[in-house]
Amino acid sequence: MEQYKKNDIIVVFVEDMGADGEGIGKINGFPFFIKDALIGDTVEARVTKVKRNYAYARLEKVMTPSSFRTEPVCAFHRQCGGCQIQALDYREQLRFKQDKVRNNLIRIGGFEPALIDRIMEPIVGMEDSFHYRNKAQFPIGTDRDGNPVAGFYAGRTHSIIANTDCALGVKENQLILETILDYMRENHVSAYDETTGRGLVRHVLIRKGFATDELMVCVIINGTKLPAEEKLVSTLSRIENMTSLSVNVNTENTNVIMGKKLRTLWGSDTITDRLGDISFRISPLSFYQVNPVQTQKLYGLAVEYAGLIGQESVWDLYCGIGTISLFMARKAKCVYGVEVIPQAIEDAKQNAELNGITNAQFFVGKAEEVLPEYYDATGDVTGVSDGMRHPDVIVVDPPRKGCDEKCLETMLRMQPDRIVYVSCDSATLARDLKTLCAGGYELRRVRAVDQFPQTVHVETVVLLQRKDM
Ligand code: SAH
Repeated sequence: MEQYKKNDIIVVFVEDMGADGEGIGKINGFPFFIKDALIGDTVEARVTKVKRNYAYARLEKVMTPSSFRTEPVCAFHRQCGGCQIQALDYREQLRFKQDKVRNNLIRIGGFEPALIDRIMEPIVGMEDSFHYRNKAQFPIGTDRDGNPVAGFYAGRTHSIIANTDCALGVKENQLILETILDYMRENHVSAYDETTGRGLVRHVLIRKGFATDELMVCVIINGTKLPAEEKLVSTLSRIENMTSLSVNVNTENTNVIMGKKLRTLWGSDTITDRLGDISFRISPLSFYQVNPVQTQKLYGLAVEYAGLIGQESVWDLYCGIGTISLFMARKAKCVYGVEVIPQAIEDAKQNAELNGITNAQFFVGKAEEVLPEYYDATGDVTGVSDGMRHPDVIVVDPPRKGCDEKCLETMLRMQPDRIVYVSCDSATLARDLKTLCAGGYELRRVRAVDQFPQTVHVETVVLLQRKDM
């Protein structure tokens, strides 16, 4: 076989896309991974790294563009790396994601293609696949002329490219950022420089409640106070719908954006948003889903799959701030949420109270520890009800690494009628479904939801039913 080496120029037809959106083209069966090359392109590329069974190459020129190519909305999409597949037509993005979930279920989960094709519903896309993010965190830096800039880190680096108009964000971002940059210039306020650890302004966090229009701005600083704070407050607070202005102190030399200390400069400490008929109070430090439109669809499906009629006991594992728990609580007898981050559980409890929901209980801890603790509690330990030990439904929404084995094993011992699995990584989803199906469950429904258009990420919701039912 022909040997390739670094800097070789190849011409190749891109026949597939990998999990990270990179184009895959083969020459005599030998695959090349080419970032920014799209399915259907014929490209010229320069080999950058050769491995035994595959190689990486950098896109040099699109010779014949794919019919799925579309004019990218953002001029920086290749440098930024946030929107890996922005140059791909949105309908094709959806097909890519649908296929990715389907293939993982078949390849990793071991499910029959015919079964998947029979039960998998079409992916839920967005009407407007831009401007969907309710939250943005812009790093602040200094350009060559010494002016403050806001933008994004160039892919995999920490140098900032100026762009105040991210296509995924809300239109208000630009005005807010320009207002802050003007204030910095006029008052000689420095931007943080992470190589020296000097300078003041590190990041700007902007959030918008999509249902309420409320706006929140938090300036993250390497210090405790902004000079001429009142000047910034007076201009920012005049922006329509501004609700909360704060500073966050982060003096650590770290990649973590937010520090622990918060000080409200103006307005309210929080903003409020609604998903369906549930209200959420959000502080600059709170976790909150970034695409509320799709979140509502995704969790709406989870509630539908749970098949609640009002009598059920439900565990919501990996519950975060309790979004799913609160949706379910409206339709179930009681819901038990488990989450490892104590602050998220505080938020969940507050959100329950804010909405007058009294049939949801929340526990701090690891799902794989809390669940067996309740299931194995013997006799009549106070606080452990029958519904906790024998729930009708278990919902899980784990992080990318999926569920812990001990968690899956306990779920199987509990034998709920239904398991609803919400996943942000279809590979670990498929792995976990294999375990659950081997343990007596049957795959009944599958649907992908596009929470992050223009990126390669895809969410999936699955219904499993106990086989003997
Ligand atoms: N449905 C939630 C989001 C779930 S994201 C919401 O809408 O808020 C996954 C969550 O799992 C995160 O909040 C993360 O902190 C939590 N987590 C991670 N590992 C965990 C574990 N072992 N046990 C319980 N929760 C865990």
